[in-house]
Amino acid sequence: NRQWTLATRPVGAPSLSNFNFIESEKPTAKQGELLLRTVFLSLDPYMRGRMNDAKSYAEPVAIDEVMVGGTVCRVEESNHPDYSLGEWVVSFSGWQDYAISDGVDLLKLGQQPTQPSYALGVMGMPGLTAYMGLLDIGQPKAGETVVVAAATGAVGSLVGQIAKLKGCKVVGIAGGAEKCRSAVEELGFDICLDHKSPDLAAQLEQACDSGIDVYFENVGGKVFDAVLPLLNACARIPLCGMISQYNATELPEGPDRMFSLMGNLLVKRIKMQGFIVFDDYGHRYNEFSQDMSQWLKDGKIKYREDLVEGLENTVESFIGLLEGKNFGKQVMRVGPD
Ligand code: NDP
Repeated sequence: NRQWTLATRPVGAPSLSNFNFIESEKPTAKQGELLLRTVFLSLDPYMRGRMNDAKSYAEPVAIDEVMVGGTVCRVEESNHPDYSLGEWVVSFSGWQDYAISDGVDLLKLGQQPTQPSYALGVMGMPGLTAYMGLLDIGQPKAGETVVVAAATGAVGSLVGQIAKLKGCKVVGIAGGAEKCRSAVEELGFDICLDHKSPDLAAQLEQACDSGIDVYFENVGGKVFDAVLPLLNACARIPLCGMISQYNATELPEGPDRMFSLMGNLLVKRIKMQGFIVFDDYGHRYNEFSQDMSQWLKDGKIKYREDLVEGLENTVESFIGLLEGKNFGKQVMRVGPD
């Protein structure tokens, strides 16, 4: 059983030296337990937060513990009445080949799911995040302008496409020309701007000629600085993530922008609301799943996976995710079907 454990807590960007790749005996399932074999492992930005010893909505990963993460697994041994051999399940078994489960908190995918890895992306946590954050908090209306960054990523790509389905104008922001081209040509965004260009703020102002009604916040930093002056009265900001700050070790340079932020929120009556997807919306999974599976079936939503082979490459891929090297939902293929 190969496992990635947290060796030391990263300061700033994580590196290979913060992790250990260890090998131990394959575990065996006792009465009432299952042995799960990992086929797919999801890599997600929140994992960076779990590497810190800081108080948050979830406990940090302890030193020498296996890194956490959503997985799609097959049941390799079952001593549990509710699960049969070979069955596919969604689990939270982390960065390892095998795990023991008591059968609680598993989602069944059946014996022959058509796209099992989708349960980690478009039909899973990132999909639910995009759907609920945009529709429940963002409340987009036809004709409004929606802006989203990390526009080709797991969450952003879906936010923009759902906003298009609701009749909005969608302006994406992504890293590099290739991602921007794909957001427009493949995902159907109206415009997509490269956040690496020095005049992002001017380009955004030009693109959003009627201001911004919904800003789905995935990244923070200089993208938020460019968005803030363009927000319309009664704009909504689903505060989903701030990936540009996850490796930060100190406050950003420059003047304190708190007064400007609060002033804008006040005079423009802007609603900004954070959310933690499963805590706030886990109970509404079925509603999301019905709409999303229909949209996929009808070809209304496109989904791109960035699938990397081999558990041994997990750390490198995770570091890449924080640097924008992924193109689509980052998933590791840990083992064969
Ligand atoms: P993505 O698949 O979008 O991958 C991360 C992307 O972030 C990178 O590809 C990169 O895209 C972009 N990025 C990284 N650094 C920067 C930077 N400095 N400035 C601008 N963009 C940057 O990840 P997810 O879709 O899984 O997650 C998107 C956001 O949603 C994250 O902030 C995450 O924490 C949050 N999230 C929150 C949840 C919640 O419950 N609140 C649940 C799930 C996700 P590019 O190359 O285009 O810049």
